[in-house]
Amino acid sequence: MFLSVPFTWLMEEAKAEASKWKGKVRIGGPGVMKPTECEFEPILFHNPCAAFTTRGCPNKCSFCAVPKLEGEFREVDFRPAPVICDNNFLEASISHIKRVVDSVKKFSLVDFNQGLDAKRFTKQKADILGKLKCKVRFAFDSWNKESAVKDAIDLCRERTTKDIGVYCLIGYNDTPEEARERLELIRSWGIRPNPMRYQPLDAEVKNGFVAEGWDERELKKTMRYYSRLVWLGHIPFKDFQETGQGELFAI
Ligand code: SF4
Repeated sequence: MFLSVPFTWLMEEAKAEASKWKGKVRIGGPGVMKPTECEFEPILFHNPCAAFTTRGCPNKCSFCAVPKLEGEFREVDFRPAPVICDNNFLEASISHIKRVVDSVKKFSLVDFNQGLDAKRFTKQKADILGKLKCKVRFAFDSWNKESAVKDAIDLCRERTTKDIGVYCLIGYNDTPEEARERLELIRSWGIRPNPMRYQPLDAEVKNGFVAEGWDERELKKTMRYYSRLVWLGHIPFKDFQETGQGELFAI
C-alpha cells in the first residue's frame, strides 16, 4: 500500500493507518520532508485534473519546503491537465512553456495554481500564457517583492489575463500591521489577496506556530477576515476587529 502524506502534521495519522495494514506500506509525499520516488503520480489521487510539468525551484526562499523536497529544478514528462501545480513554472525553458501551453489549449480554463514567479514574468512569457484562457497567481510574501509583483500584475492584465490571484504569506518575519499593509495594498490593486499562514517546515500540528509580535487570535482574525473578503470586504478590518465580529469569527 502507498500513503501520500501532504503535510508533516498528518504523519502520526498516516503511521496509525499504516500500522493497521498487514502488508508492506510505503509512506511518501511532502509530509515526510524528504524526496520520494514513486512509480505512480500521487497527485492523480488528490486531484486528477492537476499535474506537474516541472519540479523544483531555484529560489530557495527560507520559509519554503520545495527546494528541500524537490531538489534541483527540472522539466519533467507531463500529462496535460487544466490545473498546473508547478512551483516555478516560469523557470522552464521557452520551448517547455510553449509545449505545455500547446498541450492544454484544449481546456476551457487553465489554472496556474501555484504562484508564478513575478520577476520571471517577461513580456514573451506573458504573451505565450495569453494564448490560453487562464487564471494566474503571483506571490507577495515580503516588501522587497512589491515592485516586481505590481509590474507582473500590470503586464498580466495587459497581455495575459485579468483573472489574477495573489498569495500573501503572513506570520513570518512580519508584524500584524506589516502583514495587513501588504494585504491592503493587494486590495488597492483591485485583487482579493489569498492570505497564507506560515507553517514551520517540520510542524507537528497545523496552525501551532505563532510568530513573535502576533498572538493566536490576531492571526486567526487576520486569516479569517482576508480569506472572506467576498462577504466581509465592506467592513474595514479595524471595525471587524473591534465590533466583536472578529471575536466571533476567531473562535
Ligand atoms: S519561489 Fe515559491 S516555490 Fe520557490 S522557493 Fe520561493 S516560495 Fe518556494
